[in-house]
Amino acid sequence: MKKVYIYIPIVLVLVAFSLYNITKPLPVLNANQLHNKVPNVILAYEYANKYKKTFKKANCYCGCMSGKKAHESLLDCFKSTHGENCSECIEEALIIGKEKDKGTSDELIIKILETKYSS
Ligand SMILES: [Zn+2]
Repeated sequence: MKKVYIYIPIVLVLVAFSLYNITKPLPVLNANQLHNKVPNVILAYEYANKYKKTFKKANCYCGCMSGKKAHESLLDCFKSTHGENCSECIEEALIIGKEKDKGTSDELIIKILETKYSS
C-alpha cells in the first residue's frame, strides 16, 4: 500500500506538464509547415513571425474574430493554416510587414487597417 505514494509526484508532474501544453500560446507557423507555397503566403507568415507584437494588436477583418473559437487578433490567423487560405488575412499581413519595414509606428498601421477594412 505504501508504494502507491511513490507515484504521486510523477502524476503531479504529468498533470502539470499537460496543463502547460494546453495553456501555452501556439507559435506562428513557419514556411515549411505550410501547404500553400505561394510566395505571398510565405511572406505573410514570415511577417507574422517577425512582427508578432504588431500582429497581436491588429484586428483581422476576414470574419474570424467572431463566432465560436474566435480569433483574438490577426496573429491567431497565422498560428494555424487558416491564414494560408485567407486572402484577406494575407493582404493585411503584407500591409503590416511592408509598413513595419518602412518604420511606420504600430498605432499608424492599426489606423491604416481600420480605415481600409472597417467601413
Ligand atoms: Zn483571419
